[in-house]
Amino acid sequence: MLIDNHNRVINYLRLAVTDRCNLRCNYCMPSEGINFAKNDKLFTIEELCKLSEIMISQGIDKIRITGGEPFVRKDLMVLLRHLKSLEGLKDISITTNATLIGPYIDELKALGIKNINVSLDAIDKATFERITRRDQYDTVHNNLIRLVTEGFNVRINFIALEGQNTQDILPILELAKHYNVCVRYLEEMPFNGGSKSFKTIAWDYRIILAHIKEVHPDYYRLESPETSTSINYKIPGFKGTFGVIPSFSRTFCGSCNRLRISATGDVITCLYAKASTNLRDIMRGADSEEKIKEQVLKAIGSRAKTGFEAQEKYKGVFSNSMTSIGG
Ligand code: SAM
Ligand code: SF4
Repeated sequence: MLIDNHNRVINYLRLAVTDRCNLRCNYCMPSEGINFAKNDKLFTIEELCKLSEIMISQGIDKIRITGGEPFVRKDLMVLLRHLKSLEGLKDISITTNATLIGPYIDELKALGIKNINVSLDAIDKATFERITRRDQYDTVHNNLIRLVTEGFNVRINFIALEGQNTQDILPILELAKHYNVCVRYLEEMPFNGGSKSFKTIAWDYRIILAHIKEVHPDYYRLESPETSTSINYKIPGFKGTFGVIPSFSRTFCGSCNRLRISATGDVITCLYAKASTNLRDIMRGADSEEKIKEQVLKAIGSRAKTGFEAQEKYKGVFSNSMTSIGG
């Protein structure tokens, strides 16, 4: 079992499989000039399989595949098939922009991979295209509806962006009225590859909730697991639910059970922290399994207690992008 220096059990790995993406969401990365990692700096699929096995042997029982956009990796299904065969792994989930998932939906269903988070920051096509800087709205929308109607457990991630998409907060909630989905509103975080810096946000979770309450005053809170980052609610008569994720306010750090490994091998114990160590070269050297276990234990043994503590140690403006951290 992995236990950190604040006595928290770490059983949830967010594993980034690439830092590349076919969209250019403006809150995540600049429009151009992004230094994507060279291919040989990314873990191969075989290395990701081996790394997952090592992490499961240490106590990880839930893996979320993320990136970059996971489905830009043409060999992603090889990893997913392998993960599915691993005993001890109770939950495999994926975070995706849903542009490229279409051809894989049948196999994902057959494999029993049900938990898919889809990032969708607008229900209005023009707003979507302004934010993502790409013309993929129809594909994303169609794939989203297909996932929902095929019975996947879909959660929509919507980042509330001042001056960009807050007029869509209520309209996108209509999806939860008609479909069994959870629409989750996230606070913007300062990881955008240096596109902009900010000290505070206009749309924090309280303001989002107050905005929803004006139209749906009778929503009520749902029970959530202790380690959940989202606070979840139900509106009477709605098929689905909604939630808020205080990712900037950081109200949930006390029960954090997550560890991130980036596509280039960085071990990241908190989104607001610098990488603790890098596993890629270790993976490619001698005695890799033992050395990886050692490095992971070391990283977990010196975790910041909260995102605020991690940020203090960081000293300086964040210039990294969620696409390289693995969101
Ligand atoms: N490409 C996939 C996607 O968009 O779902 C997976 C990777 S993306 C980096 C993972 C999540 O991070 C997405 O839900 C995205 O909206 C979120 N994200 C990216 N940049 C963010 C930021 N600056 N603040 C808050 N969330 C962010
Ligand atoms: Fe790509 Fe996801 Fe970042 Fe958007 S949020 S640019 S889809 S990695």
